[in-house]
Amino acid sequence: MINLEKIRNKNLPLTKNGHVASYIPALARVKADQLGIVIYDLDSNQLQSVGQSQVRFAIESISKVITLLYAIKQRGFEEVNSRVNTRQSGFAFNSILNLEIEHEKKPLNPFINAGAIMTTSLIKPQDNLTPFEQILAFAQEICHDPELSLDEEIFYSEDETGDVDRSLAYYLKAHMMIQDNVTDSLRTYFKQCSMKVTATSLANLGAVLANDGIKPWDNERIISSQAATFVKSLMMTTGLYNESGVYSARMGLPTKSGVGGGLMSAAPHKCGIGVFSPPLDKDGNSVAGLSVLNELSDELNLDIFK
Ligand code: GLN
Repeated sequence: MINLEKIRNKNLPLTKNGHVASYIPALARVKADQLGIVIYDLDSNQLQSVGQSQVRFAIESISKVITLLYAIKQRGFEEVNSRVNTRQSGFAFNSILNLEIEHEKKPLNPFINAGAIMTTSLIKPQDNLTPFEQILAFAQEICHDPELSLDEEIFYSEDETGDVDRSLAYYLKAHMMIQDNVTDSLRTYFKQCSMKVTATSLANLGAVLANDGIKPWDNERIISSQAATFVKSLMMTTGLYNESGVYSARMGLPTKSGVGGGLMSAAPHKCGIGVFSPPLDKDGNSVAGLSVLNELSDELNLDIFK
């Protein structure tokens, strides 16, 4: 068994090298010196955790993985692919410039904000449930976390300060990429980002992706093999924004980050990993979290190209 305590002690001081996200005011109040690490090992079917593994924090951009998987489940792979591209972006995740580079009138990928708002807009009311109610229920199931819920305070904070995201959504509408009511899609997007998870829920999500779409805790398939592979590939190419290429080359581990300080990785057929540490680098990725993932990739031999 790997010595997670040692890895945590070594990396905790790195929390001083980053800054907690402050552009969403509710996130600025989070305590900085936290580091939680959880590994869901598929071989032993067991979780190993250390530090703040049960502390709840905002999922933020990692929710984009969940809505993408749910949109594929509800609308089908072809429709989702026809509405959002799979290209890398050279700009920040919320840059309007991402939209100026048009490829077949589609946002560049589902992990920049414009692409995520597009994905969210594809989810339709079903069985008397709103799109957000469906996303929440799906998130609880795929993260094996029935307590996963919406944090109203973070939601209001996102909504109040979300004018850049509003601009992106109205750009999509003005350019006929979204025809529906963008106000509803924006609300759903802000709510999905404001769901509270733990590093353990993220390790569970990573484990489902690593296990080809089958929940390892009950052996039931929740997403198709095709969806699991597609999402892992996208995490590899665009999961860490502008740093994606650097980390794909460095640790070769499909990973998605969020500005709440979460990181979720899926090492195919090996393990799912959830890390929580709020201070971020300039691109919006957890500083201590990325360093932990580098070490885990080396020590557990997780690089998919090895
Ligand atoms: N809610 C955040 C936003 O829309 C999510 C961004 C992120 O985690 N990178 O800006």
